[in-house]
Amino acid sequence: MSFRQAESRIPRTDAVLADPRLAEPRRLLGDGIVKRAVHRAQESAWASGGPTDDFVGRVLTDLPAHATSLTPVLNATGVLLHTNLGRAPLSAAAGDALMAAMGYTDVEYDLATGQRMGRGGAARAALLSTVPAADDALVVNNGAAALVLAAVALARDRDIVVSRGELIEIGGSFRIADIVTSAGARLREVGSTNRTRLDDYRAAIGPDTGFVLKVHASNFTMRGFTSAVTVRELATLGVAVVADVGSGLLVPDRALPHEPAASTWLDDGADLVTASADKLLGGPQAGIILGRSELVTRLRRHPMARAMRVDKLTLAALEATVAGPPPPIHDMLHGSPDALKERTGRICQRLAALGIAARIVPSAGMIGGGSAPDVTLPGWAVELPLDFARLLRTGRPSVIARVEAGHCLVDVRCVPAAQDDDVLGALTVAAHRHAESNNP
Ligand SMILES: *Cc1c(COP(=O)(O)O)cnc(C)c1O
Repeated sequence: MSFRQAESRIPRTDAVLADPRLAEPRRLLGDGIVKRAVHRAQESAWASGGPTDDFVGRVLTDLPAHATSLTPVLNATGVLLHTNLGRAPLSAAAGDALMAAMGYTDVEYDLATGQRMGRGGAARAALLSTVPAADDALVVNNGAAALVLAAVALARDRDIVVSRGELIEIGGSFRIADIVTSAGARLREVGSTNRTRLDDYRAAIGPDTGFVLKVHASNFTMRGFTSAVTVRELATLGVAVVADVGSGLLVPDRALPHEPAASTWLDDGADLVTASADKLLGGPQAGIILGRSELVTRLRRHPMARAMRVDKLTLAALEATVAGPPPPIHDMLHGSPDALKERTGRICQRLAALGIAARIVPSAGMIGGGSAPDVTLPGWAVELPLDFARLLRTGRPSVIARVEAGHCLVDVRCVPAAQDDDVLGALTVAAHRHAESNNP
């Protein structure tokens, strides 16, 4: 068939778009996305030199499920907080809150009086009822923004006194030192990498001190000849103490005995505590500032606060996370190894019934996302040949497994139990692709 003949038999874009089967996708996805799928189908028809039966059917199978190309994945790595996978998964209650807030909402409006109201009052109230040690709370875009705002509002052109052992890099090559100095504060380093004493701080404090900064070294541990000064001791110095807990525990968690909680550090005398909302708290990306009302008010009133303001969706999801049922991260952290073993064993058995060689092996879950590097959570995984990692990742649904010592490990700790069948389905398809590529 000549090119011209082929071309003439490929349906025109407007004719395809007019097909009733595309009406609903056009409504849900928009014409731009549907048109691109039509163009892809036309190009592949050209490339294969002719028309195709059921052209519209081909377009339909090629359409994305959502108008965003962000693709949901199943996290079978056993790592709770994966920055590459969007850190904490939200609770169903937070998801509902997002949907409820997506239209017009009373985010800055008092329905009773019809007056303008301070933004985010409900999220603030939820935080204060969980952390009564705080007089006031403020929510900004992320943990780094919380630190910048504290630095610019309380220590611009002044000194931030910090231990050399706490000048950490938080990933993506962002360093605490660079974050606070970018806000126009001067860094006054004290002590040494492994040891800092209260006297080191005392010697550095003077009329130029903005505040003393305590940073939880959340992503590494130091052993041996070390000493650090506690928040309780820093609080005796007579200057403001700002403490970055990083990982976002609001109250202590028995599974993480070495992670400081915001409430503990406030009780110990910190004037302000900053934290991330999308780490161990299990909420949306946000930075939480808790502490003395006079200082929180200075931060809230600083012009820079406007540039770090969170939207109604973040406020809705954060409030639901703090006030609602425990988020998924809670179960993943506290899940019993026996229950994990049973789920993993069931997947292995069903794979065996399909003739797929898989075995169950111990697997250490981790917190990840730069939190609690020393904590390992006992659990189990399905061990498979290495190429399963790629087959699972590129399947639908996409399952992200862990690669360790030349094997692919599927750890269901961070997979909702209701989705075990989805993992099994993905494994079955991957096993077929694996068999094909090994016996072509
Ligand atoms: C994660 C972290 C931050 C940064 O928080 P983001 O929400 O990622 O901006 C700052 N400090 C510490 C100690 C952290 O662990």
